[in-house]
Amino acid sequence: MAQRPYIVGNWKMNGNRAMLSEARAIDRAAQRHMKTEVAIAPPYTLIHAVHREAEQIAVGAQDCHPGEEGAHTGDISATMLADAGAKFVILGHSERRTAHAESNELVREKAESVLAAGMRVIMCCGEDEKTRDAGKAEKFVLGQLRASLPEFQNAAEQLTVAYEPIWAIGTGKTATVEDIEAMHKAIRGLLVELFGEEQGGEVRILYGGSVKPENAREILGAAEVGGALVGGASLTADSFMGIALAA
Ligand code: PEP
Repeated sequence: MAQRPYIVGNWKMNGNRAMLSEARAIDRAAQRHMKTEVAIAPPYTLIHAVHREAEQIAVGAQDCHPGEEGAHTGDISATMLADAGAKFVILGHSERRTAHAESNELVREKAESVLAAGMRVIMCCGEDEKTRDAGKAEKFVLGQLRASLPEFQNAAEQLTVAYEPIWAIGTGKTATVEDIEAMHKAIRGLLVELFGEEQGGEVRILYGGSVKPENAREILGAAEVGGALVGGASLTADSFMGIALAA
């Protein structure tokens, strides 16, 4: 059965309690557009508050520690996030892979802890501009995914992949529809190889990188695009829901 389009907002290190009004507005709008699945990943400090107030949208986190508890000052475990109301965790985002030197192995361990805590994984992947210009984008992205993905009991339900070319994140540049379709098709091939036709064929593959209401219809209409991971444009209900409506 085909899954609903999935539009996920990544608030990154933005948002305080005053921004809960945006989350409420997103939730109200999502109740009127049930054909699209809408979710947001606010900073840790807002997860529980959004969870308590939201009726329709799911709330998730932007990262977690791979361990369950212990002497890890400043870290948050997957079980803590689930306890706060998180339903999914975004992992392997390029900003974490770059600024925190996260390896594929670490990302995979984190994914295992997310699954053990009963949440879903949004696994990010994407190449930088140099890799694309060298014609190696597909090989790089598939290698990154192969090394970052854990085993799943039910990949179609537990996993979402987000293809986010690094050079398109927060830059205003977006990949062409042809490039997006080619990469998503290659990712689909890998998912079918890893999880079989039935499961691998159902995993949603999101596109991320400067998605806005103005370009959402074209991007979301592309083959194998099951939704979007949205950064900057997810910070206001108007622009975020403009994207969700285009799905
Ligand atoms: C992101 O960082 O996940 C992202 C897609 O950001 P933006 O939409 O701002 O490019």
